Amino acid sequence: MRRPAILGGVPSFPDGLPFARPATPSLQRFAARLAPSWDRGILTNGPLVRQLEKEAADRLGVPHVLAVASCTSGLLLTLRALGIEGRVVLPSFTFSASAHAIAWNGLRPVFAECDPASFQLDPADLGRRLAGCGAVLATHVFGAPCDIEEIAGMAAQVGVPVVYDAAHAFGATRRGVPVGRFGDAEVFSMSPTKPIVAGEGGLVATCRDDVAEAVRIGRDYGNPGNYDTRFVGLNARLSEMHAALALESMAMLDETLDRRRELDHLYRERLVDVPGVATQRVAEGDESACKDFTVAVDPEVFGLDRDLLAAALLLEGIDTRRYFDPPVHRQRSYRSLEPSVLPVTDDIARRVLSLPLSGVLEPAAVDGVVDVIEALHAHAGEVAHAAAG
Ligand SMILES: *Cc1c(COP(=O)(O)O)cnc(C)c1O
Repeated sequence: MRRPAILGGVPSFPDGLPFARPATPSLQRFAARLAPSWDRGILTNGPLVRQLEKEAADRLGVPHVLAVASCTSGLLLTLRALGIEGRVVLPSFTFSASAHAIAWNGLRPVFAECDPASFQLDPADLGRRLAGCGAVLATHVFGAPCDIEEIAGMAAQVGVPVVYDAAHAFGATRRGVPVGRFGDAEVFSMSPTKPIVAGEGGLVATCRDDVAEAVRIGRDYGNPGNYDTRFVGLNARLSEMHAALALESMAMLDETLDRRRELDHLYRERLVDVPGVATQRVAEGDESACKDFTVAVDPEVFGLDRDLLAAALLLEGIDTRRYFDPPVHRQRSYRSLEPSVLPVTDDIARRVLSLPLSGVLEPAAVDGVVDVIEALHAHAGEVAHAAAG
């Protein structure tokens, strides 16, 4: 077995293994895709954006997809479109933008627990916190669908809408049905680490005509077409340049999803044999978009805690992320709220580590990462001693 770099061994990735890399078309393909709009002087919200919306709607099987400047602005506009008031329940174990969309609407986030095995919003805890709230905003964490039926059931009991932060999940399916069809709306991201990339951008998918109409107007300042703004909107339009890249990315999606799933499978197959490294539980029959491959480290069993593992991996040239640590309720921007008591989320956030994965990573790299993790486990006592000394 190889000697870890943290103990003086040769780094396994001397040139560095980046955490993620977008799958992008050649510059020529991008230019060719953009050319028809470019040549007509159409730079934003034009035919390429319309084509992207149509292709996404066809793929997801939803009546409406609205392209927006980012997932964050899409969430913001969706909550505005639904006319939500008061408090909105969301998991704390998510990206900050979920909560920001609530706060920017003048609404108050109410943070709920995650499940320790799936990392998804815990429906039972949601039920305990839902009384008096105006909506649920649930995230499909790391590209795997959350507990959609349970969440929908809870929300239906109190008669409030459900919006999904589907930033990670374009291409995921829940019991065979594409993510994008659920709740009152689902919002995808097309920023560079997500399964579809536009550079920056988002997609709002909804089966509701009224929500689609309000988001369409809302992304254009609230202007219904006669400059007599109907409500306080945003400029959240997508440019033709971003749409051109997104269309190329969508054309590559099946290929990159296959690669992501292959790598996910390989990580799981090999990590089963590593004590103290738990992989995200995905419900039987669901397909994750595999945006991230995230493990939870049990320091007692693995022999090293998450931070020491991340430091040791970095010395091997392996870049990782602590998604989502700190969880949103612990972030400075939300400290003025009543403190949330979320022991499961706090524990998971301290123990998670996302490992390199993308639609362009080679399987050999995953083998290399797991070889290092195995070696670190085998040398855990020595590594912990060296780090302490
Ligand atoms: C990336 C991300 C967002 C924000 O997406 P943008 O397109 O960058 O605005 C929102 N929610 C989650 C869970 C994300 O990971």
